[in-house]
Amino acid sequence: MKKHLLVANWKLNGSIKMISQYIKCVKSCLSVLSKKNIIVIAPPTIYLSEIYKNLNNIDIFLGAQNVDINLKGAFTGETSILMLRDIGVKYVIIGHSERRLLHNETNDILVKKFDLIKKLNLIPILCIGEIEKNKNYNQTTKILIEQLNCMFQVLGKSVFRNTVIAYEPIWAIGTGLSADPKYVQFIHKFIKDYIAQHDPTSIKNIIVQYGGSINAINAEEFIKEPDIDGLLIGSASLDSKEFCKIIAIAE
Ligand code: PGA
Repeated sequence: MKKHLLVANWKLNGSIKMISQYIKCVKSCLSVLSKKNIIVIAPPTIYLSEIYKNLNNIDIFLGAQNVDINLKGAFTGETSILMLRDIGVKYVIIGHSERRLLHNETNDILVKKFDLIKKLNLIPILCIGEIEKNKNYNQTTKILIEQLNCMFQVLGKSVFRNTVIAYEPIWAIGTGLSADPKYVQFIHKFIKDYIAQHDPTSIKNIIVQYGGSINAINAEEFIKEPDIDGLLIGSASLDSKEFCKIIAIAE
């Protein structure tokens, strides 16, 4: 099977107690695997350093769940990309639907974040996806195009080189109702073709992953599809054993 990007998005969960046991479990699972897949753990910001200390292993990467648009200054409560880089973060998730909906993260803000992450040589994971109503009215591709176009318009045709797009249909997140893998394959192909129309080179180094109610039971059906290059896993990633099962399935 090809190489996949598997990201554990802990959201607002985890504790110091959980971290050492979790990392031990993932490391031991990786020790018997081929290590061809890219494994990323994205805990809440406050636990990034603790995870980094426990990792001590180049086979697992650190991911952040958000970043501010400012580098430093009077921005109480925020975390800058320089700080994330300083503590060893490699991937930064932006545009998650929970942040778009609950924290007013607009496309304009996302363009700034995407640009900043790339300029500092980290890798953005841009989440895009439609609500159920859009899907029912066959508006999915229109919504995705809008979410991609905002990047093309400001940052140019080659904006998606060496980046990650996470297709996360909002109706599938945290609901236990994952999307149909064939539907996701169709959408991922659409996303790649649309990006290739702007810049054929991007297609060689872009990763398009899927997120939405992935678990150890359904992961294989997604991983098998040719244009599903990875998974963004929320609640199932909180259980280290289940996350390890998913890693093993992607082997
Ligand atoms: P879920 O979350 O796996 O719990 O559906 C995925 C995500 O929001 O990234």
